[in-house]
Amino acid sequence: AEPRLVSVRATRISPRLTLLVLRDITERERVEQMRRDFVANTSHELKTPVGAVSLLAEAIESAADDPDQVRVFASRLTAEAHRLALLTSRIMNLSRLQSADELSEERSVSVDEVIASAVDAHTLQAESAGVTLTRGGSRGLYVRGDGQILSEAVGNLIANAIAYSPKGSSVGVGVKAVDDIVEIAVADRGIGIPEADQERIFERFYRTDQARSRRTGGTGLGLAIVKHAVQRHGGEVRLWSRPGNGSTFTIRLPLVEPPLDDAPGRRPRR
Ligand code: ADP
Repeated sequence: AEPRLVSVRATRISPRLTLLVLRDITERERVEQMRRDFVANTSHELKTPVGAVSLLAEAIESAADDPDQVRVFASRLTAEAHRLALLTSRIMNLSRLQSADELSEERSVSVDEVIASAVDAHTLQAESAGVTLTRGGSRGLYVRGDGQILSEAVGNLIANAIAYSPKGSSVGVGVKAVDDIVEIAVADRGIGIPEADQERIFERFYRTDQARSRRTGGTGLGLAIVKHAVQRHGGEVRLWSRPGNGSTFTIRLPLVEPPLDDAPGRRPRR
C-alpha cells in the first residue's frame, strides 16, 4: 500500500486539552491534480475548434460577394460548430463521471433496453457508413445503475466500431452471462488498434495516428467516458484487437436478479 500522507492541525482547547485534526491529503491532492490536468488539456482541445469557428466566420464576412464561397465556408462552420457542441457535452459528461457525486439513478436496468437505445441512436450513422449493425446473444439480463449512462457507454463503442470499419462490413453487439457477470461485447472488422496504443486509447484525448487521419469528427473522449461509466458501475472494459482484423470491446458488469415484476410466471393481479 502507498504511504499515507496526513495533514495535522492542532488546536489547543484548554490548557490540558489539544484537539488534533488528521486529514488524509493524498487523496485530496490526487483529485486536485486530476482536476488541474483536466482543465489544462480540455482548454487546449477547445482552442482548435473555437479558432476554426472564428476564422470561418471572418472568411464568410469577407466573401460576402461570392455566394458559392459563402456556402462552402458556412457548411464548414456548421460542421465545426457541431463538433464543438459534441466536445463540450462530452467534457461535461466526463467531468460528471469523474467527480465524487453519486450516480443520479441506482436501480435495476434492463440490458436489453440499454442496448436497444444505444443501437437506435446509431442506426443512421451505420446506414450512412454502409455498415450493418446486428444484435445477438442472451436476453432478459439485468444490471444495477443508471441506464442512460450505460447506454451512452455502449453507444460510444458502437459509434467507434462503425467509424473505424470499412463500408460493407458489419458490427455486432452481443450479450452473454458468465457466472455473475454480464458481458456486452461490441465487435467490428475494422482497422484494429496497434498493440502499443491499446492501453492508452482509454485516456482522454488520446487518439491513434491512424484515427487522426481517418476520422476528423472524433473527440478522443468516447473511450474515457466508457471507462469511467463502467468503473462507476463496478465493472471493467476489456479490449481485444489486431490491426487489420478488427476490435472487440467488452463491457463487464455485475449481474443482478431481474426485478420482481419482471420475473417469469408472475402476473399482475386484477
Ligand atoms: P475518438 O473520438 O477519437 O474516436 P475515442 O476515445 O472514442 O475517441 O477513441 C480513442 C481512440 O481509440 C480513437 O481515436 C481510435 O484511435 C481508437 N479506437 C477506438 N475504437 C476503435 C475501433 N473500434 N477500431 C479502431 N480504433 C479504435
